[in-house]
Amino acid sequence: MTGEAAPKFVRRAVSGWGNYPVEVCDVYRPENLDELRGLLGSAPQPTLTPRGCGRSYGDAALNVEGAIVQSDRFDRMMGFDADRGILRCQAAITLADIIEFFVPRGFFFPVTPGTKEVSIGGAIASDVHGKNHHRSGSMSAWVTRFTLMSAGADLISCSRDENAEIFWATVGGMGLTGLIIDADIQLRPIETAFMAVDNERIANLDQLLERMAESEDAFDYSVAWVDSMAAGASLGRSVLMRANHANREELPVGERDRPLTFLQKKRPGLPFRLPNFTLSPTALRAANAVFYATHPTRKSIGPCDAFFYPLDSVRNWNRGYGSRGVLQYQCVIPESCARAGTIALLEALTSSGVGSFLTVLKTLGPGNEGLLSFPMRGHTLALDIPNTGPEVIEALRRLDEIVLGFGGRVYLAKDACMTAATFEQMYPRLPDFKRIKRRLDPEGRFSSSQARRLGLVDGAERGGGPR
Ligand SMILES: Cc1cc2nc3c(=O)[nH]c(=O)nc-3n(C[C@H](O)[C@H](O)[C@H](O)COP(=O)(O)OP(=O)(O)OC[C@H]3O[C@@H](n4cnc5c(N)ncnc54)[C@H](O)[C@@H]3O)c2cc1C
Repeated sequence: MTGEAAPKFVRRAVSGWGNYPVEVCDVYRPENLDELRGLLGSAPQPTLTPRGCGRSYGDAALNVEGAIVQSDRFDRMMGFDADRGILRCQAAITLADIIEFFVPRGFFFPVTPGTKEVSIGGAIASDVHGKNHHRSGSMSAWVTRFTLMSAGADLISCSRDENAEIFWATVGGMGLTGLIIDADIQLRPIETAFMAVDNERIANLDQLLERMAESEDAFDYSVAWVDSMAAGASLGRSVLMRANHANREELPVGERDRPLTFLQKKRPGLPFRLPNFTLSPTALRAANAVFYATHPTRKSIGPCDAFFYPLDSVRNWNRGYGSRGVLQYQCVIPESCARAGTIALLEALTSSGVGSFLTVLKTLGPGNEGLLSFPMRGHTLALDIPNTGPEVIEALRRLDEIVLGFGGRVYLAKDACMTAATFEQMYPRLPDFKRIKRRLDPEGRFSSSQARRLGLVDGAERGGGPR
């Protein structure tokens, strides 16, 4: 602590990307490491929550009883080892900034979520996965080292060999072990900025699972959009989208002279939230039908940005879900019961009367040593459910039971309503996580609204009220 005054906070309404829940939180925006240290020592709020870009959907980056540390000042690249392809950067830099800079130089981000508007710190804290988990694992597989500022304001260097326990508690640890300050990331070399994409319309779930299994070896990336309104013999009707990074010879002749040009669409935004009535079952059916109709079976070569980040092409697209927001629900069902589990989930969704605008199925490869890391070998289903009322939470709790019954788990970065009892059963390594957290942060300085809801931090470790 330098003796300077701790930075000031602003009290404002904050939410994750789903706009549910919305909480009034104190928000700090430290300018530098000294301010951050000062904040840990002197902020009057009982607990602190790191926050990157706020792209987690629920309350993972909210802290109604404490304060949020908005870390976006820590957004610089620090160095690049071109021989090994390793980037050292501060943790608030976004994937968007990294990709924009490195694609023209022949490197891509090795594992990317469906939006590039996420920070490195957030991506490590959620141990994010992409459409290539079956081939490349999750974010932690590509992080060779990071620096963590712990509750005691110590800077701890962590890797698989150095402070390994802290490394595995922090990847997927949802910001509860401390604030990630910087990281070293192994980038992936690419020959072009284009993707060779293979879209295939699929009639039903059996065919989809078969085609997904067949394509695991041939394609780096694979994701299926599923028509959540299709039922009966058409249950699981979908479009399977698979791709590899294109090499130079595959490009149209006109693009071969500039293979690494990073093409991005202009980004119109939704200027206001759409009214809630636009989320009717009819609109949902229409949205699903339009998607199917506009995605015929075909092969194409296209810009990587369009393949990885179609949703980013409309800024603030989450406003389309109206003032009550959306609940994302993402779970994984182990490989051995992927078919039965996915059928049970889709049928439960249909019978609950709530609908999903965007339903996605991906294959996950084996999990890792991350104590709270989400992936496990199996299939992951993600649903976008507009928050039309209390029936949505009821429906999601029913889905939790199904997931539990099949030995699966729900993804913390998307979760807004799981119970502590469910969470404990889904994440058996929770006691190990808590043991390391207690050692690193005995006073429970790092917490979040989600952490308290799920019992991720000890009971009354930090209640409300000033310290
Ligand atoms: C459109 C869309 C598509 C998505 N697709 C995928 C996908 O395909 N795969 C996937 O895995 N995820 C996906 N996500 C989820 C997203 O990748 C994660 O929620 C990611 O963590 C968001 O990063 P962020 O910087 O916005 O973090 P925030 O939302 O700000 O924070 C998320 C968590 O990280 C912690 N955190 C943030 N910064 C730090 C830091 N510096 N140090 C320590 N902890 C920190 C926070 O405390 C919080 O617990 C998607 C999200 C959206 C909106």
